[in-house]
Amino acid sequence: MEQNSYEFELERIKALIKERGARRVGLQLPEGLKTVALALSAEISKETGTEVILSGNSCYGACDIDEKLEGMVDLLFHFGHTVNPFRKSVYKPFFRKESFTKETNRGVFENQEKVVFIELRNTVDIKPVVERAVAEIKGDCVGLVATVQHVHALEAAKEVLARTGKQAVIGRSNNLKYDGQVLGCDFSSARVHCDDIVFIGSGSFHPAGIALYTGKRVIAADPFTMQISVFEPDELRKKRYLVIGRALDAKSFGILIGMKSGQFKLNEAITLQKRAVAKGLEAYLIVLEEITEERLLGFKVDAFVNTACPRLAEDFVHFKKPVLSINEFEVVLGDRSWEDISVLEQA
Ligand code: SF4
Repeated sequence: MEQNSYEFELERIKALIKERGARRVGLQLPEGLKTVALALSAEISKETGTEVILSGNSCYGACDIDEKLEGMVDLLFHFGHTVNPFRKSVYKPFFRKESFTKETNRGVFENQEKVVFIELRNTVDIKPVVERAVAEIKGDCVGLVATVQHVHALEAAKEVLARTGKQAVIGRSNNLKYDGQVLGCDFSSARVHCDDIVFIGSGSFHPAGIALYTGKRVIAADPFTMQISVFEPDELRKKRYLVIGRALDAKSFGILIGMKSGQFKLNEAITLQKRAVAKGLEAYLIVLEEITEERLLGFKVDAFVNTACPRLAEDFVHFKKPVLSINEFEVVLGDRSWEDISVLEQA
C-alpha cells in the first residue's frame, strides 16, 4: 500500500504476524495517516485472519507508544518513527539499550518486544528541492539532516550538492538509528563542522530546533511543497529571550511532566522543583497525558516549565502564561547563561 508515497511495508507486517503467531494486533498511525487506517486494518485482517485494533489516541512521535493498546495485543505496529532510545515506559520498564544497534536493517523487529516500528519511508524525489536550496547556502560546507521519512535519500542529496561545489557532511547521531536522522528531541547528527545545515523535511519545529541547538543557519527544504525556508538562530533566540523575560518575576511555577513513555521525566522534574524551592520560589509538579492550555487553566501559578516533549514549544507560544524549557528555567534560576538556551542539552 502506498499513500502520499509512503511505504507501509504491508508484506513485512503480514509475514511478521504469521511468524509470531499473533492473534490480535494493534495499529498506531500518525494523525495525518489515520485516514488509511481502515483500509490497512481490513487488508491485514483479511490476509492473516488476525484481529486488528486501531489506536484512536495520539501518535506524535516514537515516544508516544499507545501502551494501553500494547497491553491488549500480541503485536503493536507503530507507524512513522524509529525505535526511541529514550523510551522509559510509564507503566513498565521496556527499552533495553543493548537490543538497539545501528547495524540492524531499517524497521526490522530489533528485539522480541511487542512494538514494531514501521518507518514510513517516503519515495518522493528530493533532488529538485535540494537543487533549489543551493541558492540559500552561504558557505562551502553544509551539514545534511532529515527526518526518518527521508533519511535514506541523504546520500542522493549529498551528490546533488557535490555537483554544485558544496561539500555535504552527514553527521553521526548519538542516539538515533541512522546517521543524519533528527528527531524533535535529538539533533545530535546536526553537530558538524560546517557553515550551514540543510534540513530535508516538513514543518518548522525541526529546523528551528536545529538552529537553536547548533547556533547555525538552517535551510529547510520541503520536498512535498518545494518550499525553501531559512531559520536564523539569532532571531529564534530573541523570541525565546522574550518568553524568559516574562518569567523572570514569576514567584510560582508549575513543572509539567508528560505521561508519554519517551517524555516521562519525573526525576528531572523533582530535581527542578527542589532547585526552585531552594531559591525561594514555589514549584508544583503537574502530570499530564496531553499538555494543553485548557488543562492548565485551573493551576494559578505565574509560569510553567515543560519537561515533556520539546516540540510542544511551538504550541506554547500561544499560551497566555510563559512556558519555559528546562534550560530556560535554569536561566530564570540564575544557574545558566542567557546564551546557552538550546531547547535540548548538547549531547
Ligand atoms: S520530539 Fe517529542 S514527539 Fe518527537 S520523539 Fe521527541 S518527545 Fe516524542
